[in-house]
Amino acid sequence: VHLKIYPEEEHLIDQANIDPDALDIIFQLQEHGHEAFLVGGGVRDLLLKKQPKDFDISTSASPEEIKKIFQRRCLLIGKRFRLAHIRASRTVFEVSTFRGGDIENAALIVRDNRWGSAEDDVLRRDFTINALFYDPTTRSLYDYVGGFQDVHNRILRSIGDPVIRFKQDPVRMIRLIKFRARFGFDIDPKAEKAMNSCKEEILKSAPARLLEEMFKMLESGASCQFFELMREHAFLEILFPCFHHFFCGEAKEIAHTYLQTIDEFHLKHDAPLNRALLLCTLVFPILEQELMTLSQDRQTPLSFGDILYLSQTLLQGIDTSSFAHFPKKILSATHFITTNQFRLTPLKGRPKFHARITHNEEFDLALQFLAIRAKINPELKELYLEWRQALRG
Ligand code: ATP
Ligand code: MG
Repeated sequence: VHLKIYPEEEHLIDQANIDPDALDIIFQLQEHGHEAFLVGGGVRDLLLKKQPKDFDISTSASPEEIKKIFQRRCLLIGKRFRLAHIRASRTVFEVSTFRGGDIENAALIVRDNRWGSAEDDVLRRDFTINALFYDPTTRSLYDYVGGFQDVHNRILRSIGDPVIRFKQDPVRMIRLIKFRARFGFDIDPKAEKAMNSCKEEILKSAPARLLEEMFKMLESGASCQFFELMREHAFLEILFPCFHHFFCGEAKEIAHTYLQTIDEFHLKHDAPLNRALLLCTLVFPILEQELMTLSQDRQTPLSFGDILYLSQTLLQGIDTSSFAHFPKKILSATHFITTNQFRLTPLKGRPKFHARITHNEEFDLALQFLAIRAKINPELKELYLEWRQALRG
């Protein structure tokens, strides 16, 4: 391993773009004699001239030592991966102790709490672009793995042997796709090959982590690209067969249009859409298609009861066939939102404007979803405005 240190004139990170509270935490750790750096996605985003969402800090201090310095501002959390949360004026920062993971052992990592040096900590990270350390005191960038060059050449490269790294933690493959979707970087051929041979390993990952990455991507502004890459690399088929089926069929365009609409929203706004609403963007077009098929097969018009039934069975089918199960609360809110679309915009005739439903939080989500549909289908815009008028006065 060869360490390269880039001075400010070369890396051009502007310290003004770093949250002063994060700088303050790093300075305090250093004043107590510990090593401390800004690390991970925050440094990568600064190099890409994108405003980072969060600033993570790594230090040689143990969790107990961190606790001693920050006292009541500090909460030690996690079991599989112990961390310190440090409260600051506006947000909470994650401070993690340098870890010395075994990067040559292909066994699935279940616990990762062995402390190490700064260099060890770099080597257990996933991709070179995520493994850069920034020291605000010297304003230098520490690069052990060629990550600086890879950012500039726009390449996603695993640290170490990608086959081993993906077997240790299969979620890294999904992260690879996520960074490709978000930044449009090329995937290093070795990593691409490893991903193809390790696909099935994804079934060994923790479903909750996977679901979290999925929702984060729905909120990212690059969800359409992400789902397309997930489909291309067969992860959609393995993890969410119902969505795969839809993304391969004739209705693919519609599925894309929904995701593009939420992407546009997330590129414009800071706060992400509600997660039930995000799930609706995947579920609703499928439901609409199934309703269409059903009404063609049948002579009598569809009732609201038919819609309730179809939505319920569809959601159940999606959830049971998926590798990661959705939280009950999200499923029931999704069902409420999808079915109420047919109250807001009935299959036949004009809607009945109920004053009674005004104070329902979930109904507000249903209305927000109608706004998304109206973006896709401008004919719905007028009805959306009428509803808003009727409900919000
Ligand atoms: P985002 O912008 O989505 O937050 P990120 O790269 O910051 O992307 P985080 O989940 O916040 O992702 O993780 C912070 C850092 O921790 C990463 O940049 C990477 O260095 C390291 N990391 C995260 N997940 C893994 C993993 N599964 N294996 C190895 N290192 C990881
Ligand atoms: Mg991050």
